[in-house]
Amino acid sequence: MATVDMLVRDARVVIPRVGIVETNIVVDDGRIKGLTRDMVYADLTIDASRPGLYAIPGAIDPHVHYGVFTPIDRAAETESRSAAVGGVTTMMRMLRLYSRYRDRLDAHLEASKHSHIVDYAYHASILLDEHVEEMEYCVSKGITSFKLYMNLRGEIGGIYMDIDPYSSALVHGRVDTTEELVEATIAGAGALSCITLVHAEDPEVCSREMRRAREQGLDGLKAWSDSRPASSEQKAIAFVTDVARRYGADLYIVHVGSSQAIDAVMEAKHSSRGRVYVETCPHYLTHTYEFDLRGKVVPPLRSRDDVARVWDALKKGLIDCIGSDHVANRLAMKLGDGSVWTALAGFPGVATILPVLLSEGVNKGRITLERLVEVTSHNAARIFGLEGKGSLTIGSDADIVLVDMDAERRVTPEMLCSYSDYTIYDGMVLRGWPICTILRGSVIMEDGHVVGKGGYGRYIARRRVCVS
Ligand SMILES: [Zn+2]
Repeated sequence: MATVDMLVRDARVVIPRVGIVETNIVVDDGRIKGLTRDMVYADLTIDASRPGLYAIPGAIDPHVHYGVFTPIDRAAETESRSAAVGGVTTMMRMLRLYSRYRDRLDAHLEASKHSHIVDYAYHASILLDEHVEEMEYCVSKGITSFKLYMNLRGEIGGIYMDIDPYSSALVHGRVDTTEELVEATIAGAGALSCITLVHAEDPEVCSREMRRAREQGLDGLKAWSDSRPASSEQKAIAFVTDVARRYGADLYIVHVGSSQAIDAVMEAKHSSRGRVYVETCPHYLTHTYEFDLRGKVVPPLRSRDDVARVWDALKKGLIDCIGSDHVANRLAMKLGDGSVWTALAGFPGVATILPVLLSEGVNKGRITLERLVEVTSHNAARIFGLEGKGSLTIGSDADIVLVDMDAERRVTPEMLCSYSDYTIYDGMVLRGWPICTILRGSVIMEDGHVVGKGGYGRYIARRRVCVS
């Protein structure tokens, strides 16, 4: 009798809008070949019958920053290791080049090839006027999504860029995202049937309020939050969705974490011609400005009421995706001299998406497993055109994560295996963990131990977006 490569036996498979289906998953040549109750002979059989175990599609993290503080050849290894630990089988790199894509993109793609443990794709940030002319070139390289940083302008336009492969020299650059650049990017993306990811904060409001807060001698996360008010997000969302409406272009608003920003996106979703998608991040579901400096991020952590609102939006299906906004930095560098005004924004998070949502969401009765699958893989695969990803159906890539809803672990930075030496979840006990990560039919993580090899992860060259 013919045997297949792998059988995941007696799995409870979570399928959005269908529910939980008990079946064996038959895997051959990296794909799901069948979902059946029949017994099939396989080279490797994984028993998923234990109570508390569920099979979900490998998570897709659409928002990851790596290659900024260590070069991509090294960061791909450390950060995709962290992804594998967290049940993330596809990560999307937010590429930030301070030069022409024609000059440097190939070098980044080449240096990425040899060390990824999970599959990956790229978004291209449009930071310079010249980048607009290179969007078609990016598409020819499989990049069909572009990122705009509306927050970077004038006195707050400075940011760390991606460093050159095999280098360790940090690259600091200045960005001036003018209204013209916003419009040209969205128009260009729309014409190419691509989607634009938008960091929506109004730079004028932020500069003014930050200056005022510093003059008053304020410090800490609350001051940070007040000086980058949610009203600035609302203003930026209204502006950018108006531009997108004129061009019939699709938008994806990243890292929304306040009540006001959610309101603005909902209004935009109703009134737009193109599609408007919205992402939140796990930290907006778990942390407020009462936390310490490790929690400095843009947009800032908000109030408890905002946290409750983000959960509510997630539960109601108003949020399309969860992105980690992972930044692979180290604590000493992040904290600097200890003031919120000089500390670096961003922290790691790729490994904790699923544990946080399983523990604080599903196990606490706030969301269902079906909803979790929608926002952690299913929707991202459709929005960003990741073919074969995001669902456990016949013909899909066999990216399967077994989660144990009863596993309880206390988070340490070490277990997350990132270049980062800290986590905002340090010391928290989370219940519900990925215990086995399978990528295209190969086990890459078992019980917290990464067994996948660097270079197995493939670059996903995309041909289209918005397949819905
Ligand atoms: Zn980001």
